[in-house]
Amino acid sequence: LKKRIPVPEAPRELSELSLTFNHLLHQLEEQFEREKSFVSNVSHELRTPLTAFKGHLKLINRWGKSNPVVLEQSIQALDEESKRMERMMIQMLTLARNEHFESKNERVNLTVVIERVVMQMQNDSNVEIIRNLGNNIFGMADEEQFRQIAVILIENAIRYTDEHGKITIVLEKDNEEIRFIVTDTGIGIPVQDQHKIFDRFYRVDKDRSRQTGGTGLGLSIAKELVHNIGGTITLVSKTGFGSTFTVHLPLIKSGYS
Ligand code: ADP
Repeated sequence: LKKRIPVPEAPRELSELSLTFNHLLHQLEEQFEREKSFVSNVSHELRTPLTAFKGHLKLINRWGKSNPVVLEQSIQALDEESKRMERMMIQMLTLARNEHFESKNERVNLTVVIERVVMQMQNDSNVEIIRNLGNNIFGMADEEQFRQIAVILIENAIRYTDEHGKITIVLEKDNEEIRFIVTDTGIGIPVQDQHKIFDRFYRVDKDRSRQTGGTGLGLSIAKELVHNIGGTITLVSKTGFGSTFTVHLPLIKSGYS
């Protein structure tokens, strides 16, 4: 695959054709490399919880009957690891589906979708969540995909912010665009990591991500989904102060709303 087709000293069409071939070949190579590294990441990521499973099962086998503390701790660890694995499976399926399914392009009440997600999440967390959502802001999107984006960003904000922190969720619209902004006062993201956190499986701190049930896939999915619905995602963050993720979506063209 590494060989290039040489561009011959030939009529223009032929050399253009050859350039096109080279370009296609290059894209194929890149795709192939991406798939290869995805598969090797997946097997690595799945091996980690499996090793933990085996270790805790051994502990239970050996000490479970005589030591209730070991038993309880191991069962809790098994429970957490299996939840993480389940989450990873769901996220991998999302990634696979996203490559095969077209997204819908429908008028979605973004305000309502975000309200629902926040209500659902508020129950699982002690962090203060403040909402500042414009009334009935509509965008052209795929409702389920927009919901997933909101879940990923808000879940991350909660997971990387301690109990005394605060999360602010804004939905606003001006003459240019619609913005969905999730700000937290959490641990923040070092500058040198900021461009990498949207890559599959990249985590700034593997231990912290694992402890909170992370998989390293959330933001890569969010980024793909945002692109799917015609938007972009940006990040501003400072270590120790917090992070702001902003999803920029186009306005609905006049005539629709
Ligand atoms: P994970 O499941 O590990 O959270 P993500 O793809 O959602 O995976 O995020 C990638 C990494 O980006 C995380 O491991 C974490 O280091 C960092 N990150 C994401 N969101 C935040 C946030 N709100 N605050 C601080 N760090 C974050």
